[in-house]
Amino acid sequence: MTASDAVTDALRELHARFAGMRGGERADYIPELTRADPDDFGLALVSMDGHCYSAGEADVPFTMQSVSKPFVYALALSSLGLDEVGRWVGAEPSGEAFNAISLEPRTGRPANAMVNAGAIVTTALVPGTPDLPAFDRILICLSRFAGRRLDVDEEVYVSEAATGDRNRALAYLIRSTGTLDVDPVAAVDTYFRQCSVRVTAVDLAVMAATLAHGGVNPITSESVVSPAVAAQVLAVMATCGMYNASGDWLLRVGLPAKSGVSGGLIAAGPARFGLATYSPLLDPAGTSVRGHAALGALSERLGLHLMRNPALPGSTVTLATTADVLPSAPASRQERALHERVGIVAAQGALDFTAAERVLYAMDESGPEQTGSVVLDLREVTGADSVALTLLHAGLARLAEDGRRAAVVDPGNRLGPPDLVRERTGQDLPRYSTREEAVERCAQALADPG
Ligand code: GLU
Repeated sequence: MTASDAVTDALRELHARFAGMRGGERADYIPELTRADPDDFGLALVSMDGHCYSAGEADVPFTMQSVSKPFVYALALSSLGLDEVGRWVGAEPSGEAFNAISLEPRTGRPANAMVNAGAIVTTALVPGTPDLPAFDRILICLSRFAGRRLDVDEEVYVSEAATGDRNRALAYLIRSTGTLDVDPVAAVDTYFRQCSVRVTAVDLAVMAATLAHGGVNPITSESVVSPAVAAQVLAVMATCGMYNASGDWLLRVGLPAKSGVSGGLIAAGPARFGLATYSPLLDPAGTSVRGHAALGALSERLGLHLMRNPALPGSTVTLATTADVLPSAPASRQERALHERVGIVAAQGALDFTAAERVLYAMDESGPEQTGSVVLDLREVTGADSVALTLLHAGLARLAEDGRRAAVVDPGNRLGPPDLVRERTGQDLPRYSTREEAVERCAQALADPG
């Protein structure tokens, strides 16, 4: 956190703009929550590099309540896998309030893990042993997401345990209608404790950033859950995280999010940031009024809507031409004619599916004739994921099948180990450190096909 920078300024501005909002009520069905200071309003943002920015009461502790649900869902998914967890809890938005007493008619499954019924099932699925009871496992997991040791607010826990009959009713209903062998008393007790874990807005921003960062905590660098599990959790947050307001939230704010009745709210920009707000005054759907307003405004101002600009990469292909137009082209007409048959495609940046498709398209189009060669220049490529590599290898194999010679300028070995490249492309693909060398060899081979 720096004293002043553009991101902190944006958060401070939002704080100043919405701190005066007076609408909403503190949750009172858990009596201890009515003790929260209605003026508290904190905001925090954590980037994928672990830079942390905050404004207002971002260090005031409060209990997680339902914001714990996605993280415990992540733990259940990590322990049992999506198929097994999916047997017991669905992934459909319920369109109902957080504490609705409803289960899927045929299976008895709760609609999703973000409503209370689903969260109680998720909590019950977390395996416990005498050495490591389920709640300890949950607390360890939540702490790893936050990057520090969290604890339980015992007063809030006792307060919810004393008044939580509706959740107990849900747990008994789950046992009576479904086939899951839950102990309703134990499941609800663990669930109440998990809801009473104490955090700050900064903690929640780190936790959300960990989900956004493929399960790796950007502050501690610890891998808390796998990238697959992080993606599954974000997907369910996107469709179900805001209860019966989830559709409208995704429409207007456009970020996977989760709210809780103590006033915490998280949102995650996949591969971009984690955000959190804290303000205890809630709207009728159980979401923080100021948090909702602030995240909505921030999304608008910084263009964060997931669907608006799906991470359009900058230009991938920096050059798609033939070697005769390069400054290094030879002067003689005869040699130039050979260079005319050598296509050049240069790429830059990180290659994923979208970027690899552009490179392949340029390679297909390069060269005025199908018998020529192609030089693929990867010097400015910073990395390639496994999907991009598979596509590039397949594209190079296709070129060879079409009778076109390929050469790769690849001093950084972006194309992968030679054995793998040989196996995938069916050839010993020549790799060079300079473009001139690659062009020269291709031109020579064209001159002397034997
Ligand atoms: N502990 C709360 C309950 O079960 C969590 C609800 C929420 O935060 O939305 O009622």
